[in-house]
Amino acid sequence: MERAKVNQDININDYKDVWVLAETVNGKILPITLELMGEGRKLANNLGKKLAVIVPGYNIEEAAKELVEYDVDIVYYVEHELLKDFSTLGFVEVLSKEVKLRKPEVLLVGATSIGRDIGPRLAARLGTGLTADCTGLEVDTEDKKLLMTRPAFGGNIMATIICPKNRPQMATVRPGVMARAKKIEKSNASFEKIIPDLKEEDIRSKLIGTIEHDQKRVNLIDAKIIVSGGRGIKNKDGFALIESLAKALGGEVGSSRACVDAGWIDSSHQVGQTGTTVRPDLYIACGISGAIQHLAGMSESKYIVAINTDKNAPIFDICDYGIVGDLKEIIPALVSSIEAG
Ligand code: FAD
Repeated sequence: MERAKVNQDININDYKDVWVLAETVNGKILPITLELMGEGRKLANNLGKKLAVIVPGYNIEEAAKELVEYDVDIVYYVEHELLKDFSTLGFVEVLSKEVKLRKPEVLLVGATSIGRDIGPRLAARLGTGLTADCTGLEVDTEDKKLLMTRPAFGGNIMATIICPKNRPQMATVRPGVMARAKKIEKSNASFEKIIPDLKEEDIRSKLIGTIEHDQKRVNLIDAKIIVSGGRGIKNKDGFALIESLAKALGGEVGSSRACVDAGWIDSSHQVGQTGTTVRPDLYIACGISGAIQHLAGMSESKYIVAINTDKNAPIFDICDYGIVGDLKEIIPALVSSIEAG
């Protein structure tokens, strides 16, 4: 294990630019990269800094070039055969060297499996702090510090954390929370190749194979419509009703944690603080009470519809349209009227 040692021997004024760590799989840029770039642009503007994205990998030039079409100032791509497969030590080795050399003021990493692996080790290597799993980032306009917000105490409070003395200010950011960067008509972004000094002995683990997930994965993050079931569906078979409405609307099936814990549906469907954060155009919550941990994952949806027998359920406080009634009657009625056109 690497031991974290705070690096107090720095001059904060030497640090510049907001950096985003890009993630790729098989040469394709993952959506979290665009989410971090969208948020990074806002922070860079507020801090009066440039926005840069760094893309480590092998044969990564084409993917990295795509990012130049977005609202970004610099795209660095770090090209090395030893970065072909993800390895914590290999990626941290090259990233820590580049960060030490170029000194970004802020470094944003996705709170994905890879980002959660790289982030803490990189922060330890750099002797700085890391705020994990952020759902909000702002700049304090007075002293230009980054305010990093994340749920704490089981989601009952939102904690805002600062990194006053060390640099870069690092955060992992929860996927699905931030709006994605959009392509712009004319970009002046510079495109820079970095060939790192990386040796086989820097990487002490070896990838011996990958196993494809054979189950159909639900894609909640990209879904425009999500119909979610909660404990109000009563049992596993209740998901047939939820699926019928999702199918009629061309949406995906989501769930509260209560149904996942009860074993009624796979955890990949869970929406909320410990599940997926979503922001579809339409979110229909069926038999879901509206616990704070569920709301943490869906309250940014454009339109929220709730169906619940209890008129005092907290979900009605945040929904755009509420139906007080039994989902066993309401859902079939909705499906037949959608199918009737
Ligand atoms: P309930 O709260 O039991 O609500 C069921 C609702 O169904 C009620 O409002 C009831 O009126 C209604 N109902 C009953 N019958 C009908 C009917 N026939 N028709 C219509 N409505 C009906 N939860 C999540 O969802 N996601 C998370 O990521 C998550 N993370 C958590 C993390 C931590 C650290 C903790 C402590 C908790 C977390 N939870 C999470 C759990 C959360 O606190 C709630 O327990 C959970 O969201 C409740 O699920 P629910 O709304 O389905 O069930």
